[in-house]
Amino acid sequence: MNSQKDFKKTYSIEFFPPKTPKGAENLRKTRLELAKLKPAYISVTFGAGGSTQDGTIETVTEIQASGISAAPHLSCIASTKREISTILELYKSRGISRIVALRGDMPSGMQAPSELRYANELVEFIREETGNHFKIEVAAYPEFHPQAKSASDDLKNFKRKVEAGADSAITQYFFNPDAYFSFVDSCEKMEVNIPIIPGIMPITNHNQLVRFSDMCGAEIPRWIKKRLEDFGDDINSIQAFGMDVTIQLCEKLLSNGAPGIHFYSMNKAEPTTQIWNALGLKN
Ligand code: FAD
Repeated sequence: MNSQKDFKKTYSIEFFPPKTPKGAENLRKTRLELAKLKPAYISVTFGAGGSTQDGTIETVTEIQASGISAAPHLSCIASTKREISTILELYKSRGISRIVALRGDMPSGMQAPSELRYANELVEFIREETGNHFKIEVAAYPEFHPQAKSASDDLKNFKRKVEAGADSAITQYFFNPDAYFSFVDSCEKMEVNIPIIPGIMPITNHNQLVRFSDMCGAEIPRWIKKRLEDFGDDINSIQAFGMDVTIQLCEKLLSNGAPGIHFYSMNKAEPTTQIWNALGLKN
């Protein structure tokens, strides 16, 4: 049984697929900048609803062709097994070897999940279809998933994903390191033996942070909320404060054994680069 500090540290970055040609052009520039950091891989999110799925495929293909390992996110709630099989084959044929496997959220208007209801079923299906071809990442929630019946139920459901064949996990973002350490302790007690990599959201925009955190159930501690409110529209102060908070959070996590960091880059190069360099990260 490994503890988190025994795993090799992995530093990775996340993009979302651009929606416009201008967005695609900006993301190319961002990729060129972030390539200098030599991330272990760049992952690309996936919309369950349809329109961004082609964007995920195009974006990972471009990243992979540029020489960086790309990891598409894949969600199952709105797709048939056949559709998932087809996309897995496509990724295999394009040299992709890592996938972030998710349940996803039900698109509005959809009444019931498709054939695979939870992420553990998707992980099992990927293993059945493609054996050990893919390294599979799954999602973890140190502050617990918003729909979880209870903390213990959510932990058991997390373990199901590991038993189904997940190799590693990336967390939802959080600002309280104790939530992460407590989650990791519980996982060790349940003999969950995979790296659990903190997902880190650089603080750069107050309104956006509040909106995202409401959606995904991440708690913004009161002291951070109050400080951000004070800054109003002073974007420079928000960014300087956000940078300090995020760097200190990463330092605490890494010095206490977190096996790496996954950066939610929001398709911007600068915040991730600043944090990465301040911490002197190397894969
Ligand atoms: P699951 O692990 O299936 O869990 C969902 C809920 O169901 C939890 O409450 C859990 O306790 C419960 N549960 C799980 N298994 C079972 C079971 N077998 N029986 C009963 N209950 C169960 N969303 C996107 O749309 N696109 C993305 O690209 C994307 N990327 C993400 C990346 C990361 C690192 C993270 C943390 C989240 C991401 N999300 C993404 C959001 C994610 O899709 C949502 O949080 C979604 O609601 C849950 O997905 P999951 O894979 O964690 O689900």
